[in-house]
Amino acid sequence: MPVGFVGHGNPLNALGGPLAEAWQSWGRDLPRPEGVLVVSAHFEAAPPTLSSVSGAPLIYDFRGFPEAMYELSYAPPPAPEVATAVERLLAPGLEVGRAEGRGLDHGAWVPLMHLAPLADLPTVQLSIPWADDGPAMLELGARLAPLRDEGVLILGSGNIVHNLRRVDWSGSGAVADWAAEFDGWVAAALSADARDGLAGYREHRLGPTCHPTPEHFVPLLVAAGAASGDAPSFPLAGFELGTISSRCVSFG
Ligand code: ZN
Repeated sequence: MPVGFVGHGNPLNALGGPLAEAWQSWGRDLPRPEGVLVVSAHFEAAPPTLSSVSGAPLIYDFRGFPEAMYELSYAPPPAPEVATAVERLLAPGLEVGRAEGRGLDHGAWVPLMHLAPLADLPTVQLSIPWADDGPAMLELGARLAPLRDEGVLILGSGNIVHNLRRVDWSGSGAVADWAAEFDGWVAAALSADARDGLAGYREHRLGPTCHPTPEHFVPLLVAAGAASGDAPSFPLAGFELGTISSRCVSFG
């Protein structure tokens, strides 16, 4: 099974638009998984923690959006078998938590509404446990890689550039030079399988500008770690509001 990373961008992508259409197209190209494990920017908890396996309701973790956004539903089957497999892979030396009351957050359900619109794939989330430790997040992905052989789609969800303080609300569509440069650096590093360099992204001169906080970048490290050196392809690349990269990555 391939490994994916989705730049989830603005929650409004749930309602449709070019990005949603690109996700739909990518979803049609993916082989059908047995289950989906999402590592989203919007679920940080240590130790590594699994979301509900009994179908807790969606989380509408955004404020000030149109009412229609809070009426959307996406209810895939729970994924207790995927959760058990994650525990089996991580348990040697690592405690794995359960957050049984926690449903899917928008980093998971917004892109999945379009990637898997039938909502028929058992889905569970795993938290980001160590957002400030890039190499550890890469290693977490490597520990999860055997899930691929069990037909599980590992999907990181964040953004390769994510600086909400510097978005361009003017609607000009102009992409900031620094954002484009960092996005290109990441794509080149992935293509060169320079994963260790990616894990040190904060040392890049634009790292702190592109990620004032780490949570939207590190899901990419989990995906890259799980990719086991498989070459990436980029089913979608672009920007929203000038500084939010919508680049998606498919490994293998
Ligand atoms: Zn987000």
